[in-house]
Amino acid sequence: MNHSTTRVFLTILFLAVSITLPAQKIKKSDYQQAVDNAYENYKSLKEGKNADYIKELANVDPDIYGIALVTTDGKMYTAGDLDSRVSMQSISKVFTLAQVIEEQGPRAIFDKIGVDATGMRFNSIIAIEMNQGMEINPLVNPGAIATTSLIAGVDSAAKWQNILQTHNDFAGTELEVNVPVYISEANDNLRNQAIAHLLKAYNRMYFDPVQATDLYTKQCALNVNANELAIMAATLANGGKNPITGKTVVSPQTTTYTLSVMSTAGLYDDSGQWLYAVGLPAKSGVGGGIIAVSPGNFGVAVISPPLNEVGNSVKAQKAIYDIVRDLGLHPYRIDPK
Ligand code: GLN
Repeated sequence: MNHSTTRVFLTILFLAVSITLPAQKIKKSDYQQAVDNAYENYKSLKEGKNADYIKELANVDPDIYGIALVTTDGKMYTAGDLDSRVSMQSISKVFTLAQVIEEQGPRAIFDKIGVDATGMRFNSIIAIEMNQGMEINPLVNPGAIATTSLIAGVDSAAKWQNILQTHNDFAGTELEVNVPVYISEANDNLRNQAIAHLLKAYNRMYFDPVQATDLYTKQCALNVNANELAIMAATLANGGKNPITGKTVVSPQTTTYTLSVMSTAGLYDDSGQWLYAVGLPAKSGVGGGIIAVSPGNFGVAVISPPLNEVGNSVKAQKAIYDIVRDLGLHPYRIDPK
């Protein structure tokens, strides 16, 4: 390396370091400042595009942008739009997964679904075929539909009540299905139905495939605002006990396994990049929401519908990255003794 190359290299390195590590850590009490900064930094960003493969999602206002952070002692820090609701979509996979682990124990997910990342798009059929229905991960569509098929209930209606109750308990409020989104996807989800049938062919679908796909589609259509999503994430951050209502929704053990799966595949095939940059278990949905969990500290949620090519909200990723960086809470950031 000659002298000028060395200088360029050092400049790049310095910039990278100063971008990723704050000169001075913001104190944990400065949550509001971190949330406000993240909001301001991206409020006028115009990157990404609403999902449109579910037709109704293309009609959602792309300018919705809300951030909420809820700590495990129940304090709430917010910025932007907290009123607008979007469908949870894939974020719902987390809570149905948690309920199945709660009902059947972590071994059932390990044996019947698999917990390795597929490394493929969230609705990949090749991923099923390559592993003959094994190792399909509960947070991408095949594993998620199979997980929904495992939920307790004598019939479809009972299973739905179970799913809805679980989501309500995590949120601490009564959530509603976004009916136009549900109908729009239900009329057009041949690919998910194909996934469910292919799993059935491999004996890895545990309820009627048509009804399981329908339940899954309905859970994805549950409507949430940033506050509600953040409380759901904070319940995970608090070992399964809702920090606002005080209700124990799932056990600490269930929470541990749920968070681990979020680390493997929460942002689909960008999960490695996410873990590298942010380090926290997280989950995105094509409705535009992302939740992230700082275990023992807080849950954070950001809603902004425009997505990148793999289906993750552009602003939500950036905002959460900034918050975690400013709070110095990347879990693998270690100050040597
Ligand atoms: N309901 C959506 C689907 O099955 C959820 C996908 C997502 O949020 N990634 O396609």
